[in-house]
Amino acid sequence: MLKEIISQVECEQLQALISQSETILCVCHQNPDGDALGASLGWAEVLRTFFGKATQVIVPDQYPDYLHWMPNTDKIIRYDKHKEGCDWTFQHADLIFCLDFNTSSRVGDMQAALDASPAPRVLIDHHLEPDIPSVITISHPEACSTCELVFRLTWQMGAFEQMTKHFAIPVYCGMMTDTGAFTYNSDNCDVYFIISQLLTKHINKDKIYRNVYHNFSEDRLRLMGYVMYQRLVVDSQRHASYFTLTRQDLKRFNFIKGDAEGLVNMPLQIKGHKLSISLREDTEKENTIWVSLRSVDQFPCNEVAARFFNGGGHLNASGGRLYCSMEEAVKIAQQAILAFENQLK
Ligand code: 5GP
Ligand code: MN
Repeated sequence: MLKEIISQVECEQLQALISQSETILCVCHQNPDGDALGASLGWAEVLRTFFGKATQVIVPDQYPDYLHWMPNTDKIIRYDKHKEGCDWTFQHADLIFCLDFNTSSRVGDMQAALDASPAPRVLIDHHLEPDIPSVITISHPEACSTCELVFRLTWQMGAFEQMTKHFAIPVYCGMMTDTGAFTYNSDNCDVYFIISQLLTKHINKDKIYRNVYHNFSEDRLRLMGYVMYQRLVVDSQRHASYFTLTRQDLKRFNFIKGDAEGLVNMPLQIKGHKLSISLREDTEKENTIWVSLRSVDQFPCNEVAARFFNGGGHLNASGGRLYCSMEEAVKIAQQAILAFENQLK
């Protein structure tokens, strides 16, 4: 059985709130990943089919190609493409679910519309320090993913029985992607109880794995080889590394969104490695560098992200951004590694 981490009282309050609402929005963070998209699609499915509510998923911008196969992606509206219509929808919604982000700045250019909406908000998230004014806050950093929380709510509300694979597929996908296919953040036995339940909906979990992880172009595979061979700088003494991806590199390998995903995990395959930093130039904006950090065990890459890269995140997976040249970004990465050397050795 599932150990309850969301209180029954909270579940009942949420059910009452949903019942009172007619039009509901599910929104997630910019650059949506498998968990953000999976939680939005899964939860929207519950709202539509169990509660019978008119529900719209709005994402701030493009999501990676390797998530396009998920059911109901055709119903998703992108804010960056339909700004005016979305602004109207935000103004007229009865209820907004904020999924997989802890502060409204994480929705990028959609922030003004979200902040201005008169609709009450419900947060469902697993990031630290929730900072979204909401009538109900379901924030559990101990959950492996927001999808885990979506499952828990569905289960506790008695809605799971009615769910089909249209619910189970995105929820499984989000749990899988946020745990690196169950290789980190996934020691809680509840995770496997949830998977066993999702499998009763006849999902093909091996195919979901292939759809996500074996769905790259030849260019992306060669980009990976190029980065590891040419661009990775390893500080073996400090068990840390960084690599750069310039706009020129991206162009050379016909970069499309999602192609850089997972590259930052690769240096952690080096024996004893503790910290990996990826510095990637934006494809369009000058002096904008996207930073991803990954670590193992107790090394807090979210502290590195907060102190050096204007970001944050989880203990072992964080992100941030720099507004400078790649040369300067490299210096900052080197400084960051030095500043944390005591915890790296
Ligand atoms: P990624 O490297 O996949 O872009 O991000 C890794 C993790 O860091 C994600 O879980 C993401 O939510 C988190 N993250 C990325 N940027 C930020 C940020 O600026 N602030 C916070 N708090 N978390 C971030
Ligand atoms: Mn997540």
